[in-house]
Amino acid sequence: MMIQANPIVNQALDHPLLEEKGVELAIKRLDLVHPLVSGNKFFKLKYNLSDAKKNGIQSVLTFGGAYSNHIQATAAAANFYGLKSIGLIRGEETLPLNPTLEFAQSQGMKLEYVNRTDYRRKNEAEYLDELKEKFPNSFIIPEGGTNSLAIQGTSEILDEGDSKFKYIILSIGTGGTFCGILKSLQSHQKALGISSLKGSFINREVSDLIEKNQIRTEEEWTINSEYHFGGYAKYTQILIDFIWEFYESFGIALDPIYTGKMMYAVWDLIKKGHFPTGSKILAIHTGGIQGNLGFYERTNIKLPGLSA
Ligand SMILES: *Cc1c(COP(=O)(O)O)cnc(C)c1O
Repeated sequence: MMIQANPIVNQALDHPLLEEKGVELAIKRLDLVHPLVSGNKFFKLKYNLSDAKKNGIQSVLTFGGAYSNHIQATAAAANFYGLKSIGLIRGEETLPLNPTLEFAQSQGMKLEYVNRTDYRRKNEAEYLDELKEKFPNSFIIPEGGTNSLAIQGTSEILDEGDSKFKYIILSIGTGGTFCGILKSLQSHQKALGISSLKGSFINREVSDLIEKNQIRTEEEWTINSEYHFGGYAKYTQILIDFIWEFYESFGIALDPIYTGKMMYAVWDLIKKGHFPTGSKILAIHTGGIQGNLGFYERTNIKLPGLSA
């Protein structure tokens, strides 16, 4: 039994700017891959959960912030596989639950709150051993879901039809999805990651992931860290306006944490002439729209896709 994906479409965009610059731009709609397990998280989780199931494991345990797409997706995917799930949530419990945690709980996820000091230990062997004792027979998936099985899953995002694109662009959090893309990249293609986090440490982390997972990369890749809009989960009015304009032009909802920043970067780089005339660009919509509802509750800023 394997969780089923909807057929994945590349939506070609039509816009005067693209015409003026002589570039082709399409969006890979991973946001539509599954009604409950959206975007890149579908690919990151599929082998983790099918493996856990095969190995007779009864529950999965993972970590995330209170609005985490990864928590939301893990809860739904575990439920699909008939696995129990435990979510260790950073910070204190706030009631009523926000829409992300409410959903996770409705999928059967047991929520446990972890203070920020302990949460920082999430990758320490000693802490993980404590968790294994406290939650026996649980499979631990790291925060954001990045591990080798996730990279195996995300290496299936690109397919043969995508070989016509020279540039593959996607958002970066932990870099797990980016590494899956690198694994499947063809030699005439370039991958460009847009980091949602401030600072260039992500280059180092991606290099480490590449080495650990023995990904061949004669192929070219770069990470742009100039479109974080103040840092992870930070935003500006310019970003919000862009998300609305993009929705009005193309009917595609974006989120303010990842895909909004990534598309803003793509648009800005096209404007600045970064891509030579004739370039074919594929931007990957990694999902994350579930977070727009919680964003609205938190900030009172409406974004597209709220009712979806
Ligand atoms: C988690 C997430 C990312 C980041 O993926 P990584 O594999 O951690 O780099 C990007 N976009 C969306 C919408 C996400 O939910």
